[in-house]
Amino acid sequence: MKIALVGIGKIALDQHVPALEASPDWELAATVSRNGKVAGVPAYARIGEMLDAHPEIGTVSLCLPPVPRFLVAQAVLFAGRNLMLEKPPGATLAEVHILCDLAMAQGVSLYTTWHSRMAHAVAGAKAWLADCDIRSGRIIWREDVRKWHPGQDWIFEAGGMGVFDPGINALSILTEILPVPVHLTAAEIDFPGNRQAPIAARLQLGQNITADFDFRQEGPQTWDMEFQTDRGSLALRMGGNLLEIDGQRVGGQDSIMGEYPALYDRMARLVEQSASEVDVSPMVLVADAFTLGRRTTVEDFEF
Ligand code: NAP
Repeated sequence: MKIALVGIGKIALDQHVPALEASPDWELAATVSRNGKVAGVPAYARIGEMLDAHPEIGTVSLCLPPVPRFLVAQAVLFAGRNLMLEKPPGATLAEVHILCDLAMAQGVSLYTTWHSRMAHAVAGAKAWLADCDIRSGRIIWREDVRKWHPGQDWIFEAGGMGVFDPGINALSILTEILPVPVHLTAAEIDFPGNRQAPIAARLQLGQNITADFDFRQEGPQTWDMEFQTDRGSLALRMGGNLLEIDGQRVGGQDSIMGEYPALYDRMARLVEQSASEVDVSPMVLVADAFTLGRRTTVEDFEF
């Protein structure tokens, strides 16, 4: 199946293009980006030009940051093409609800991807937790924004989500593996004085679960979650890629490769079945953190 990629930047080049090149299902047939290109692939600067020029391209995958994404997503659906969205699926929840209704009305597939749910150990953790009572949980998601998002000022602009850009990956795993729904009960959010989006956040969730997100971690990076249950302890490390039960490593792989091939495999199956997969539960937790959270102003931040 032919697919177009929109927003040829960091994640498109790091993950989407290699995943598509290796895919048995997809052929990258066009790109849309003001500056970015992929060698040998027809390139367009505007979505409308690409959609008009390529009626044979049935699916479009968006790798734009969240704020400029909605109008492009709408254009894809109005043109009757299937749509795959990078996380988070919109700048607001309302955008995602509108896209979901539009995809249904147009009879096309919509997939709101959460790449961290495809990490190696997530399915195993979900299966192990299925019969457990969760007594407490602790998420620590601390990374260096200068290393992972060099110069990406959009991340600290309104709608860029700040530290929730990686934090929502943790929440996407949490909402996937827990056997019960989870909701936010309190939050403390730290905004640099010169920025519109937070650099750190501490969340309190149901089931006695806490989350600590921080964009200022230099040295070793931490993407861990640990749960105490009536049947013992479970830990997911390396962003959901390693699984430990009662302190012993029992599964997963020490690598993040595999998440994006799994997303494109899932999208192929959705298109074949004319089905959609839309889940906003990680975004609800972030929106609720902004609604309920206590705000603190911290030191200015420059890249
Ligand atoms: P990025 O490189 O900063 O942006 C991707 C491309 O989008 C840019 O190269 C730019 O292409 C276009 N773009 C940027 N700002 C725009 C604007 N205001 N209006 C129109 N186009 C704009 O971002 P990214 O790191 O790839 O992230 C994109 C999405 O992927 C985000 O939602 C992020 O959460 C998600 N993601 C990122 C990572 C990561 O490690 N970076 C990992 C997983 C998921 P042109 O200038 O060529 O138009």
